[in-house]
Amino acid sequence: MKSLWDEKEAARQGEHPLDQRVYATRLIGQEADLVLHGGGNTSVKTEIVNIFGEKEDVLYVTGSGLDLAAIDRSGFSPVRLEALERLINLDELSDSEMVRTTRSSMLDASAPNPSVEAILHAFIPFKYVDHTHADAVVTITNTEKGMERIGQIYGDRMFIVPYVMPGFLLAKEVYEMTRDINWEQVEGMILLNHGVITFGNDARTAYMRMIQIVTVAEDYLEKRAMVEAPGGDETPDEDLYELARLRRAVSETRGVPVLAATATDPLALYFSRHLNLEELAGRGPLTPDHVTRTKRTPLIVDGPAEEALERFVEEYREYFDRNTDGTLTCLDPAPRWAVWPGHGVVSFGRTPEESRVIADIAQHTVRAILQGEGLGGWQPLSEDHVFDVEYWELQRAKLALGGSPLPFDGKVAVVTGGASGIGRACVEVLSEQGAAVAAIDLNPDVEGIFEGDGLCGLVGDISDPEDVRGAIDAIVRRFGGLDILVSNAGIFPASETIDEMRPEVWRRSLDVNLTGHQLVLQACIPYLELGIEPAVVVVGSKNVPAPGQGAAAYSVAKAGLTQLARVAALELGPRGIRVNVVHPDHVFDTGIWTPEMLEDRAEHYGMTVDEYRTRNILKVEVGARDVAELVCVMAGRVFSRTTGAQVPIDGGNDRVI
Ligand code: ZN
Repeated sequence: MKSLWDEKEAARQGEHPLDQRVYATRLIGQEADLVLHGGGNTSVKTEIVNIFGEKEDVLYVTGSGLDLAAIDRSGFSPVRLEALERLINLDELSDSEMVRTTRSSMLDASAPNPSVEAILHAFIPFKYVDHTHADAVVTITNTEKGMERIGQIYGDRMFIVPYVMPGFLLAKEVYEMTRDINWEQVEGMILLNHGVITFGNDARTAYMRMIQIVTVAEDYLEKRAMVEAPGGDETPDEDLYELARLRRAVSETRGVPVLAATATDPLALYFSRHLNLEELAGRGPLTPDHVTRTKRTPLIVDGPAEEALERFVEEYREYFDRNTDGTLTCLDPAPRWAVWPGHGVVSFGRTPEESRVIADIAQHTVRAILQGEGLGGWQPLSEDHVFDVEYWELQRAKLALGGSPLPFDGKVAVVTGGASGIGRACVEVLSEQGAAVAAIDLNPDVEGIFEGDGLCGLVGDISDPEDVRGAIDAIVRRFGGLDILVSNAGIFPASETIDEMRPEVWRRSLDVNLTGHQLVLQACIPYLELGIEPAVVVVGSKNVPAPGQGAAAYSVAKAGLTQLARVAALELGPRGIRVNVVHPDHVFDTGIWTPEMLEDRAEHYGMTVDEYRTRNILKVEVGARDVAELVCVMAGRVFSRTTGAQVPIDGGNDRVI
């Protein structure tokens, strides 16, 4: 492991010990092999002057569950050292007492909850303390003879602590064990099945020790248990319908929709094809810190999704019954990740972010398991200890940091014509409301407009059946299924009366405004049928109920589209899919309306542009975002009992009413 320490950068941080602490903590956070998503914690002891001008010794310790890579001063809780030092002398301390006491000993009431390891940090007689869950070290301890190996590797440099539940129990155990040691002779501690602690009187020393200790473990693994997927068959098997079925089954078990992201990197594939997969994956996690996010074991998809899941749920309930003390309530039994033989590793998340976090943990776990096997046998922490952490209230509290749920969390939506106008607004609003959204558009810019977690832009012509199938498959491959279709793509052909209509104008309008929608709907139906509360919203036009002269090519196609949606509502309703139509009118912030066109139309009616924009009963302007918000309502819960409806959004039109 390379040190990321930069002397110049460190010097730029400022004199205050907390600034040095922030800098080194961020370096640790940047290294996924040290800490993953809210794991690990660090501290610094220093003297501060309080508001009364008195000096006080404090421990600045990271807030519980915070991401170390992005931490700043505000992520550290200042806790009075004296209070923490007194706590260690208690014989017992419940979790809630620990939280209450440490919180009431903080010098800043608005600071985050201090890490559960604050007491442990407090009595280590060094200014800076770093704690990580370094993969390499934990992997070695998670093997047969792990403790022996650690002893051989580190000799007296490191103090070895057998596994104890984190929090007060761990602090107490270490306190008792280290009463008589000479701290100057050790560089840190190995917490078996858990992680590493290093310390020093300056930030650099503690950090460099961490890097050195971990590097020794990495070298050891590289010599003895190098894991590389053997070359050969690196093409994953693929069955997108079965993937959508799996995602739905997991969502139903969890009680909320989830996304399903599949990793097909060589190691994931190699692991998925492991002969002893089920038994191996069933032994347990890399570190108990992961189980609140991933559960103890993954689902093994070794047959039809529903059956595999049923078995998983049964086994989870048995695991709960074996380990509960009778006061606990069983959590939802849904798996958080799955290994699908030949297909890869699938992660299930409520949000794109949660999917990514779980995918990261799964990837590190797979590597550790294979390395552990290479080292004589993967032997993670026993089930009862893992259970204690999974059901530990302080660990569960970390999950609550994620914020409150959004209406479309875990849902997958596709919007055609998503690069601009109403389509783009639909992508944005659906995404703001939690959905993972794919935009399909002819405009190649769509790829650049939408990228990142939970968003994707796909270039495609909806009037081309192959483009359509390719794009819809790509969405299912990426997010695991499909729940919402916003069939929006459209063109507004040049105004031509029927007698002067050019055939190509007529044909292109029908191709895009009518046939394209049929192709998209057709490609989506099998996936929507496997979706969660699936809904289709078709973007029609005011021209359907109130056509205008010179717009035959457009109006006829949109009328046909509306009729298509009505038939679709009849055909798909019994299969659980709702289909509704929205009829917008005069949405001026779209590509259809240029400023010249606006002026021209306004003049035609003898109005100012402003008058023309609000030429409706309510005298309001209708924007793309207004339409998008209505589309979201129609795709969501409010419309869950409605299908085959046509809803205008036009400010009120006397020809329609
Ligand atoms: Zn830890």
